[in-house]
Amino acid sequence: MFIARTLQDLSNALRMVANDPSTTLGLVPTMGALHAGHLSLLQAARRHGHRVAVSIFVNPTQFNDVDDLARYPRSEDADLALLRDAGCDLVWLPSVGTMYPDMVDTRIEIGGAALGWEGDARPGHFSAVATIVTKLLNQIRPVRAYFGEKDWQQLQVIRSVVAELFIPVAIEGVATMRDMDGLALSSRNRFLDAEQRRRAPAVYRCLVRAARALAEGDAVPAVLDTAREDLLLRGFDVDYLALVDGRRLRTIARPVSGARLIAAARLGDVRLLDNTPVDADLTSRMA
Ligand code: AMP
Repeated sequence: MFIARTLQDLSNALRMVANDPSTTLGLVPTMGALHAGHLSLLQAARRHGHRVAVSIFVNPTQFNDVDDLARYPRSEDADLALLRDAGCDLVWLPSVGTMYPDMVDTRIEIGGAALGWEGDARPGHFSAVATIVTKLLNQIRPVRAYFGEKDWQQLQVIRSVVAELFIPVAIEGVATMRDMDGLALSSRNRFLDAEQRRRAPAVYRCLVRAARALAEGDAVPAVLDTAREDLLLRGFDVDYLALVDGRRLRTIARPVSGARLIAAARLGDVRLLDNTPVDADLTSRMA
């Protein structure tokens, strides 16, 4: 496994890893503090027959809150050990100075899927994500890049950036990896205390219950209200819980093909994001 920390290292490592024309490279961008969810992206890349590059970069520009950036977990040694065991070929660990040589003179502006939800909760966040991912894609030039469905809105933002800027890479969404009780794995779960951890799976349970009710034809406003109230009763602050179209994340009044239930809810100062598909086919079959 090659570990590159400078652009010179990266160019040498890329020459070694993709040294013959039959090898193709897959990229998994991460912010480190790796868990089984991140590794499932790496495994998807390996299943596609790619050599795998994983980037670890805690991108300062995508944090709205300096405290959130300061406390973001970092565990480089453990990450490298996990990646070595998982069969990663190349790890890209750039510095902030490498990624932002002129600080932030250039960035991507984005509308569409980036508007609303996380875009409202974290102004400028998706512009920063789109910019850093574009930089990583240009540095590594993978044929495919892998992103988690866990961050559904981010996945749609990346899809539209790549399509609209004609970046020659295929974007692959990978299903959310969960703990046994349904909680989506996240680097931030370590901030949950024991009591919060016990309650946390309710987000996914409420989403699944709501998705089932929608698929059975229950009225959308009633289903969403019930799910929100359920979370409030369990001590969550609900930032949003909504039915949206899966691509541009616009609110929809009834389930359509590709519809998604998305939610962000807080327990103390830990913010949990999750989402689930709604089986609109089932709705129309039952109509
Ligand atoms: P992060 O390090 O949190 O920025 O995440 C890096 C990538 O891993 C993103 O594409 C995330 O969507 C993805 N990811 C995070 N958690 C999970 C999970 N539980 N299952 C699948 N992918 C995930």
